[in-house]
Order: sequence, then structure tokens, then C-alpha cells
Amino acid sequence: METNELNYFESYEDIEIHELMLRDSPRNEAYRKAIVANKDYIQNKIVLDVGSGTGILSVLCAQAGASKVYAVEASNYAAVTKEVAAENKFEDIIEVINKRIEDTELPEKVDIIVSEWMGFYLLHEGMLDSVIYARDQFLKPDGCLFPQVAKIYAAPCSMPSMFEFWDNVHGISMQSVGKISRLFKSLKPEICVINSDDVLCDPKLVRSFDLKTIQIKDLNDIQLIDIAVASKEGTYQGFCLWFDVEFPNFVNKTESPIILSTSPNDQPTHWKQSVVILPQEIEVEEGTPIAFEVKLTRCEDNIRRYNIEFALLDPNEIEHPMGCDCFMTKCIVAKVFVQNQSENTEIST
Ligand code: SAH
Repeated sequence: METNELNYFESYEDIEIHELMLRDSPRNEAYRKAIVANKDYIQNKIVLDVGSGTGILSVLCAQAGASKVYAVEASNYAAVTKEVAAENKFEDIIEVINKRIEDTELPEKVDIIVSEWMGFYLLHEGMLDSVIYARDQFLKPDGCLFPQVAKIYAAPCSMPSMFEFWDNVHGISMQSVGKISRLFKSLKPEICVINSDDVLCDPKLVRSFDLKTIQIKDLNDIQLIDIAVASKEGTYQGFCLWFDVEFPNFVNKTESPIILSTSPNDQPTHWKQSVVILPQEIEVEEGTPIAFEVKLTRCEDNIRRYNIEFALLDPNEIEHPMGCDCFMTKCIVAKVFVQNQSENTEIST
């Protein structure tokens, strides 16, 4: 394995990362609910858990009645999956394979692929590539994925807790230091929880992925040019990205899908939100159009990372892209190019 890959799997040998995920109750609850809701469908089915970690998803599927679960885990945590399977009396159902999925051979095709592959702003870590590989290699044509749909959203936001601090540091105005801090923070995405009141516009859908059909090349360049309209007055300080994933619902087709959301409107998860900080803040009124371009481009030297490029556009210079195929011109007002290279963003799921 090349060094980037070794570092990636070694970072998953840290108990704190697994503990963080296991203590993330919106995450676990969404998977649990989706698996329990589909119990009748999962009964006697063959499941592949891509990246089983501590084995939580494998055990949930075994509890739901799967006849066989292949739990594939590249890191040394495969041994833990095995112990957890035995601890829950599923050692006969869960077969643990300590390999990268890309190096795995299975004796049969599977009905269901379950995986928790999501990273910050959905795509960080690039683990979706491995799920796509697993789908193409091992999923029966009529098989399904848990989750099956993933969506990236974006919205302008303010970040008062980050910037108001500089107005009064023990009675001293420190806005000059705040400016330096803002410039520094605009160089990499900030992973933080954004208060729902601080989201300035209705969210824009950046991209929706159907995991049944998506190809790896579709993940290399993602771009949205759009105009959001401020739904309240506020200080536009950052551009917030988050995601949700949807699980299939085979049993109660009329019910709305079970969603794991990392939106500022929902209970915070360990993914929080990813925010591109603007180098300068802008005051907006209710109704102010906020035109922007956001681009996520996969890094050439490390496919597990993305560069996030964000441009403020002049709303008068772009035609609204919705519902027309007219040619779009854009006038860039300011541009932030975020190198997604901070240590704390190595892994997130
Ligand atoms: N399913 C567990 C762990 C999710 S974290 C849970 O929900 O808690 C993702 C896991 O996938 C990590 O343990 C990581 O080591 C593993 N992983 C990532 N890419 C993989 C690959 N290509 N093959 C096998 N395991 C992989």
C-alpha cells in the first residue's frame, strides 16, 4: 500500500475515532432505524459491510435477520469486529475479512451493501470510491445500498461566536487580531457547528448522488453556480457545506425515507458543518441576492482530499441557472481557494 493509504488505515486504528462515531447518536440512530424499518426485507439476505470498523452495522444487519454478513475491514479493527460479533452471538453469521475491499474476493454476490463512508462535506476521505468498487464487484443487479442517496447542501451563514470575540477581549477591542485570524481561517475549511439561526438563506442543493448508478469520475469535480436570497438580515461571514444521506424503505414505501442529516437545523453530529470563511464579511438585508460559485475538486496528489474553491459573484452578472439553458456569464467579486490540508481533517467517519 502507498504511504497515503497506509496513513489512512492507520488513522482508523485509533480508538478515539471509533468512540467518536459510536457516541454519535444521530448517526447510529439513523442506521439503526433504517435497518430495523427494513427488517422484513433484510431477512435471509446476504449483506456486505464495507469498512465494518467496530462491527456496529454488521451486528445491526445480523439482528435484522441477515443470513450472512461479510464484514470487510482493512485496519486492525477487523479483530474487534470479530470479537463484537462473538460478543453478540453472531459469529456464525458475520464473517470478518481483514482486507481492503479492493483486495477482497467473496464466494457469492450480495443483496445489500451497508457502509458508513461519509466524511466532512460528504466527500472528504474519498471512501465512496470503495463503496462504488464494492457495488460493481459484489452487488447483485437488483441489490441495494444503505444508504442509497447522498446530497451535498450549501448556504451562506454568519459565525458570531467566532468573530464577536475580537470585539471585546477582556475589555480590549482586538479587531485587528480578528482580521488576521479571519484571513488565516479562510485558508482551510473550518469544521464547526453552525447555529440554525445563523444560516442566512434557504439551503441550495449542490449535488445529489444516487449510489446505485454513480461513477467514480462523477466525484472528481463538483460545481454549483447559483443565487441564494437572504431570508433575514445578518453578517455574511462564511459559506457552509453539509450533507444528508437517505436510506431505502422497502417495507413501508409510503413513509418518508429515513434520513441521516448533518444540517445546522438538525441535532449536531461528529461531522458538524464545513465552513469556508470569507476573507471579509458582508452585511446583508432580507431579500439581498447572494450569488456564488462553489467547486469541489479532488486533489491530484491525494484522492482522499478535495480543494474547495468558493467565489462571490456579482448577482447582476449571472443569469439564474434554474429552468433555463441560457449561457451563463459570471463576474467574480472575490474568490477563496481553500486547501483542504489541515491535520484535523484527516478522517471524520
Ligand atoms: N462501520 C463502522 C466504521 C465506519 S468508519 C461504523 O459505522 O462505526 C469507516 C471504516 O471503513 C474504517 O474502519 C476504515 O478503516 C474502513 N475502510 C475504509 N476504506 C476501506 C476499504 N477500502 N476497505 C476496507 N475497509 C475500509
